[in-house]
Amino acid sequence: MYDVEKVRADFPILSREVNGKPLVYLDNGASAQKPRVVIDAMTHAYEHEYANVHRGLHYLSNLATDKYEAVRGIVARFLHAPDPEEIVFTTGTTEGINLVSYAWAAPRMQAGDEIVLSVLEHHANIVPWHFLRERQGVVLKWVEPELDGSLDPQKVLDAIGPKTKLVAVTQMSNVTGTLVDVAAICRGAKEKGVPVLVDGSQGAVHRPVSIPEIGCDFYAITGHKLYGPSGSGAIWIAKERMKEMRPFLGGGDMIRDVYRDTVTYNDPPMKFEAGTPGIVQQIGMGVALEYLMGLGMENIASHEAKLAAYATTRFKGLNWLNIQGDAPGKGAIFSMTLEGAAHAHDISTVLDKKGVAVRAGTHCAMPLLDFFGATATCRASFGLYNTKAEVDKLIEALELCHELFA
Ligand code: PLP
Repeated sequence: MYDVEKVRADFPILSREVNGKPLVYLDNGASAQKPRVVIDAMTHAYEHEYANVHRGLHYLSNLATDKYEAVRGIVARFLHAPDPEEIVFTTGTTEGINLVSYAWAAPRMQAGDEIVLSVLEHHANIVPWHFLRERQGVVLKWVEPELDGSLDPQKVLDAIGPKTKLVAVTQMSNVTGTLVDVAAICRGAKEKGVPVLVDGSQGAVHRPVSIPEIGCDFYAITGHKLYGPSGSGAIWIAKERMKEMRPFLGGGDMIRDVYRDTVTYNDPPMKFEAGTPGIVQQIGMGVALEYLMGLGMENIASHEAKLAAYATTRFKGLNWLNIQGDAPGKGAIFSMTLEGAAHAHDISTVLDKKGVAVRAGTHCAMPLLDFFGATATCRASFGLYNTKAEVDKLIEALELCHELFA
């Protein structure tokens, strides 16, 4: 039985007030709050177990290295990935996708080669591909969602042509909460011999993930949305793809030997991890993932599904509120505009005065906002600690906006 009040007690920040009101934190899509176990583990690491990793032969360096390296196994378990050696640590999804763009895609693509993308993508899964368009003449082929925000996997597969070298697609939209059937996309793409990169930044937060079931080639996650620290993250890369990759950043740790006239590289995954990493950040992410697995991703998914259903019912009663995207089975992320002249920034400012934290703007997904004909929206994104009472508080605050701006 999922006890949300017990879960809330694990998150110290949730008991604070904002603008004299109890905090209602609905900006989880941007970054989630951290449970006490993560905060404590990071403090403990700095107080008792800190040194640089992979370098020293002294006690603390070995201890820090063991703790840090153990996180590869935790990430693999969280993703049901067979081999921790396929986990590359990153600072987040943005770095993970840039790594693939630079180290795998750039050397394999010529002018006229194609990358298939959906219009649902976050800029982190768009701009690294634009680099290849600008620098190498790679063509970006866009697949439009349906009007309800859903993405038809067949449309993605139909966009694959003889020149397609990669499909890059999100598992869950950070704007609409749309869930994408990435397994169907991977199955079809594999038949055509085209690798698939899945942006799991949002998907991995709200649902259990199984890499073998998805069948992708690259799967990127970001620690700070998974209730871990900012600056932590990982990308799972299939062994065959790793073998095809050149190094990304150059520096310490990613090398085997460096001479005046030559250099040899470390084996993957370290070949792709240069310099001193976010040691304590990754340790914190490991603790966050253990925390999530302790709660059970299925339980989290079912709690959030109930919240999404309740919020959807309540929103339907507000005829002055437009929600962008209502695809069946969508997650608990709602982007909205109010009829009348109110700008998303004004709405979020009023909400903030009531203690309700939401995000306003284009959510790093300008092509999708454009698709919906919106210049900015207000986004309420729910997490594992949110409650129905908080949905009610959001609605109360939106009603106040409607009164003020209608
Ligand atoms: N992809 C999606 C779907 C996201 O929601 C985000 C963050 O908002 C990112 C990628 C980028 O994540 P990060 O900024 O942690 O690298």
